[in-house]
Amino acid sequence: EAKQRGKSRIVVYNKKMREGVVNVLAMEQDLIRALKAGEFEPYFQPIVNLADGTLYGFETLTRWNHPDRGMVSPGEFIPVAEETGLIVELGIRILEEACHVMEGWRQKYPAARDLNIAVNISARQFSEAALATSVGRILDSTGLPASCLKLEITETVVMLDAVKSVNQLNMLKKLGIMLSIDDFGTGYSSMSYLQKFPTDQLKIDLSFVQRMETAPENIEIVRAIVNMAHSLRLRVVAEGIETERQRDLLYSLQCDYGQGYLYSKPLPKAEAEEFVKNSE
Ligand code: C2E
Ligand code: MG
Ligand code: MG
Ligand code: MG
Repeated sequence: EAKQRGKSRIVVYNKKMREGVVNVLAMEQDLIRALKAGEFEPYFQPIVNLADGTLYGFETLTRWNHPDRGMVSPGEFIPVAEETGLIVELGIRILEEACHVMEGWRQKYPAARDLNIAVNISARQFSEAALATSVGRILDSTGLPASCLKLEITETVVMLDAVKSVNQLNMLKKLGIMLSIDDFGTGYSSMSYLQKFPTDQLKIDLSFVQRMETAPENIEIVRAIVNMAHSLRLRVVAEGIETERQRDLLYSLQCDYGQGYLYSKPLPKAEAEEFVKNSE
C-alpha cells in the first residue's frame, strides 16, 4: 500500500522550494571556493567553572568571513556543508586549527596547560568510519594531549543510531579525549544508552537555561538533568548563560560549568588569548 502510494506521489515544487534548491547549489559552489580561499575562521567561546568563574576551556565556533556577505553564521552554512558532504573536509580543518591554537597557548602560558578545547562534530562527520583515525592523526601532528580535546556531538545525532554510536564513541574514547553530548534535552535520550555511552559531559541546551526565569518549570528540568548526569558520573555544562540570575540558579542546581554572553561571546583567536593570559 505504501509502495503504491509512493509511486503515485506527486511532488509539487513551489517557488520557495525551487529557490531553496538553487540556493543550496549556489552555496555549495561558494563553500568550495571559500574552503580554497581559507575564509573559515574558528572563534573561541570561554567555558568557566561556575563556582568561581575561572577559565575551564573554550568551545570552537566556526565563522565564515565572506568577501561580499560579511560574517555568515554557522546556522546558515553548516547545514549546507552537511548536506553536500563538504563538512567532512571543513570539519577536519577546523579541528586541526583548534588543536593547533590550543597547543600554542599551552606552550606559551603555564596556566593554559589544564585547559581544554571543544570542537563540534556534525552528523555526517560522526558517521564516518575514519573519524577516530583522523582525530588521532591530528592529535599527533599538533602535539595536543588527547585529554585537552573534547568533541561535542548532539543528543539527536548520538541517539539516531544508538547501537552504532556506542562503537564510534568507544573508538574515540580510546584516544583518551573527552566526549560531550551537546544540546541535551532537545532530543529523545534512551537512559539505558546514556549509560552505555563512554561520555564525560552533558551540555544543557540554551533553551532551558534561557527559559528558567520566565517559565520556572525549566528550573525543574535543569535540576533533573543535572542530577541524572551526576548519578551517571557526567559533568554538566550549561550553554547560553546571559544573566547573573541564570548563573546563580545554575550554580545552586550544582551545574559544573557555564558558557554564555554573561562571560563572553565567541572571540577571534587574539581576543580569546587575552582570556588565557588573564587567567594566569
Ligand atoms: P552549539 O554547538 O550548540 O553552540 C552554541 C551556540 O550558542 C553558538 O552559536 C554560540 O555562539 C551560541 N551562544 C553562546 N552563548 C550564548 C548566549 O549567551 N546567548 C545566545 N543567544 N547564544 C549563545 P553559533 O556560533 O551561531 O553556532 C550555532 C551552531 O552551529 C552550533 O551550536 C553548532 O551546532 C554549529 N557549529 C558551529 N561551529 C561548528 C563547527 O565548527 N562544526 C560543526 N559541525 N558545527 C558547528
Ligand atoms: Mg556545541
Ligand atoms: Mg549546544
Ligand atoms: Mg545548539
